Amino acid sequence: MTIETESLGILQQSVERLAQGFEQLPAYRPEYDRERAESVLLQVAEKMWDNYPYPHPQYAGQMLKPPHPVARMAYMLAMWINPNNHALDGGKASSAMEKEVVAEIARMFGWDNCLGHLTGGGTLANLEALWIANQQHPGKTIVASAQAHYTHNRICGVLQIPFRSVPVDDRARMDVGALARILEQEEVGTVVVTLGTTGVGSVDPLPEILELQRRYGFRIHVDSAYGGYYRLVDTLPPDAVAAYTQISQVDSIVVDPHKHGLQPYGCGCVLFRDPEVGRFYKHDSPYTYFSSDELHLGEISLECSRAGASAVALWATMQMYPLTTDGEFADGLRACRQAAVMLHRRLKEDPRFITPLEPDLDIVIWAPKAESTGAISKLSQQVFEQAEARDLYLATFSFPSELVKKACPEIEIDTPYTTCLRSSLMKPEHLGWIEEIWRILDEAQENLA
Ligand SMILES: *Cc1c(COP(=O)(O)O)cnc(C)c1O
Repeated sequence: MTIETESLGILQQSVERLAQGFEQLPAYRPEYDRERAESVLLQVAEKMWDNYPYPHPQYAGQMLKPPHPVARMAYMLAMWINPNNHALDGGKASSAMEKEVVAEIARMFGWDNCLGHLTGGGTLANLEALWIANQQHPGKTIVASAQAHYTHNRICGVLQIPFRSVPVDDRARMDVGALARILEQEEVGTVVVTLGTTGVGSVDPLPEILELQRRYGFRIHVDSAYGGYYRLVDTLPPDAVAAYTQISQVDSIVVDPHKHGLQPYGCGCVLFRDPEVGRFYKHDSPYTYFSSDELHLGEISLECSRAGASAVALWATMQMYPLTTDGEFADGLRACRQAAVMLHRRLKEDPRFITPLEPDLDIVIWAPKAESTGAISKLSQQVFEQAEARDLYLATFSFPSELVKKACPEIEIDTPYTTCLRSSLMKPEHLGWIEEIWRILDEAQENLA
């Protein structure tokens, strides 16, 4: 694998430009032992060998997308200042950049005047959304599908909100009939709708859930930590497109720039359609709000200190790749999706495999065929290992056995869950590597014990 290093030249140049802005100050340079730092850093480099090769297209397992070089450079450049986006005192320029990028992300979803900010990640962003949800419907149940991110249940535990899981349909989407039955039985305050589940990339049927909302009046929170940017893509299955098209009607949205938005970890985003919810965040910190009457991001965030560098990196990336439906960024997502469709088609046409789901976005799941779900699970694990031995990195995923049986009725269910293989094709480059990925996969499958 080639690790890109040309960006170091651009970084050097931009750090020097940054320094020019502070030349009027008396000379001062922090002291440290260069030799020791160098030896420690070389040690770190070797420690980092013990990772899967995430940036390489043959890493096609978990949801890991490399940050764009411009994001990496901008983040590092900001490190020479290390701004804190809690308050304007701590990060003037980077707070302004955060407001700009958050407004752009909101516009992608069709919102012009909403409240939002960056967070440490999707979990924190969802926690804030569910915290607000509970302020508006105190004590009422929050529901999410059985394929929703596992943290929703845990967040509700932390916030002491009753939580219920809604079964999924054959396509791993929230089962609207089951949701309607729950709505008849108990007071539901908020429905979490996942547009792009983490496990399989399924898109919940938002239009039907909006219909139910007219009757029952719950809040809708969309968790699109992984799938949110697919708002820009219209080559998805028609019901997924319909869900994304209606996203502007929901109450809150989470999207993770550190999932599909080309950012280093530490960058989530939460948005509220009604800016008035800002009143729930109101507090009176004695330390931080001196420099301006303008809104401080710390006033509308549960977290106190936040990396200004995250906002800087995202701003730089969005300068290069604006969130338009016809730009390079959306093209990249379309390529990921197409890679997933191609891999899925090959697997589906091959009698050695079971393919329980058509991909809605860019995640593919499949399993080697066998007589029972237990046997399938063992084979999946072996393929995973055989692929890794050939430098193709996949993931495994535990999927409900009834859904596997739906795709392949002759198998016997002897375990409630079946281990399947899972591939997140989140790099646009995956499209050009499908042949090679298939070749290795075929070889791995042929070498099962
Ligand atoms: C990744 C993910 C989360 C959790 O986000 P983190 O950034 O990992 O904290 C929540 N929901 C969905 C749908 C996700 O894909």
